[in-house]
Amino acid sequence: MTATPASPTGGPENLTVRTRSSVLAQLRARIAGEVFGPGDPGYREACAGFNRMVTHRPAVVALPENPFDVVEAVRFAAEEGLRVTVQATGHGTGVPIDGGLLVNTSRLDGVTVDPIARTARISAGATWKTVLTAAAPFGLAPLMGSSSGVGAVGYTLGGGFGWLGRRFGLASDAVRSFDLVTPDGTPRRITDSSSPELFWALRGAGAGSLGVVTAMEIGLVEVSTVYAGNLFYPVDDAEEIFARFRDWAPTRPEELTSAVAILNLPPTDDVPEPLRGGSFAVVRGCWSGDVDAGRRLVDEWREWRTPLIDMWDERPFTDADAISMDPVEPMPHLVTTEWFEDLPDDAIDVIARRVRPAAGSAPLVVGEIRHAGGAVARAAATAANDRARSGEFLLELIAAVPDPQVALAVESALRVTRQELAPFVTGAAYLNLVSGPERAARAYAAFGAENRRRLAGIKAAVDPSRRFSRGDIV
Ligand SMILES: Cc1cc2nc3c(=O)[nH]c(=O)nc-3n(C[C@H](O)[C@H](O)[C@H](O)COP(=O)(O)OP(=O)(O)OC[C@H]3O[C@@H](n4cnc5c(N)ncnc54)[C@H](O)[C@@H]3O)c2cc1C
Repeated sequence: MTATPASPTGGPENLTVRTRSSVLAQLRARIAGEVFGPGDPGYREACAGFNRMVTHRPAVVALPENPFDVVEAVRFAAEEGLRVTVQATGHGTGVPIDGGLLVNTSRLDGVTVDPIARTARISAGATWKTVLTAAAPFGLAPLMGSSSGVGAVGYTLGGGFGWLGRRFGLASDAVRSFDLVTPDGTPRRITDSSSPELFWALRGAGAGSLGVVTAMEIGLVEVSTVYAGNLFYPVDDAEEIFARFRDWAPTRPEELTSAVAILNLPPTDDVPEPLRGGSFAVVRGCWSGDVDAGRRLVDEWREWRTPLIDMWDERPFTDADAISMDPVEPMPHLVTTEWFEDLPDDAIDVIARRVRPAAGSAPLVVGEIRHAGGAVARAAATAANDRARSGEFLLELIAAVPDPQVALAVESALRVTRQELAPFVTGAAYLNLVSGPERAARAYAAFGAENRRRLAGIKAAVDPSRRFSRGDIV
């Protein structure tokens, strides 16, 4: 990690050297989109993302209207020696920027689908919802994750493990090309044949580190109807359910991507009765093969023990959000993760004890274990984020932070849980599921030693003054 780069103007982040307003005026004159500085109406909104725990405080925030604006904004930052951070939706904010330039891509939200080639061209700020809606009429789907509100590009740059993952791999595996504005402000089309090293790096190690991706082209998969949902069991059965899942999931076909979770649902109006305010152990997932075969798989659970509530059903993949029921409104939260090769009973006990609500315990909302393997693991050997996708079970812990006063207690609850799990984990990190400064702190753990060296070389070549220093390659 190096210090803030030197500026040709004598102090990059220190906009008091030159007046802030003249710097803002220069950028405003260069782009069609809006530019805000601290104190301007619109600044706060342009900086805010989904995760309200992480607050960017840039010296300048730009909202490009088109890819040319991105080129100009990045060139401007290069001339001024400003550090640059990119934000689409703020679902995956890592280290917040303090000073420098924030490029908010949310207005670049165009998506076009080519049903013959089965591809989608997706602009930097588009969410999976837009891609899903554009692809579905052709019986096609993207490799999106649990929430269609997540930004497609940011998700894919970090890998992207969703409900079709075991069958088709991570979203990054489906990328055909990126349009990248490199840190010196050069627009480039990055493909496997034109720039194999950068193409490799962007697919899993690309978030925020190597420039601004203004668009990507991805392959779509032929999935329109799935058998998907949740079985809700009493939370007291969590240990038994997790242990059964550990033995069950790895022997099931790759058309199934599944998970078990403890859910502590809030007592709010957006949670339907009878789930509102309840805690449950759930078996959830998505089967993308023959619907009757999927139903028979889930029957194995129903016959083992009748659930309290059964929400598995045949549904269009456009309803994929119904599987995880992620919140759609911005939420201050912390998220962290660990990988397991096996899931010994002792590890299950830690997770159940830490996530199941107890008097005086910190409010963990979700403790979910996804079964990976299949196509997720198969492509690991050649992927940039090799370590981030090669385990068998992926734990995600999510904690809400409704009040900043409880942030320390929540952080400590997550840290202690990870400490207790340390004897059982692989030590690898899947960075999409790590929030805040921890995302950068654990970046080393997403890549094997050889890939780390290779990525460091690519980073040094493309961003020698390390102005994109808030991303996944630190
Ligand atoms: C409710 C919820 C559900 C989720 N479900 C899943 C899931 O099922 N599977 C999964 O793998 N992950 C999941 N995630 C994690 C999510 O994929 C990551 O948080 C991802 O980084 C979000 O991307 P974003 O662009 O929406 O967020 P942002 O916070 O805007 O960006 C995330 C990162 O990508 C960088 N970035 C964004 N756009 C660009 C760009 N155009 N060029 C260069 N860098 C860019 C940013 O700088 C930042 O480092 C989920 C997160 C949430 C909050």
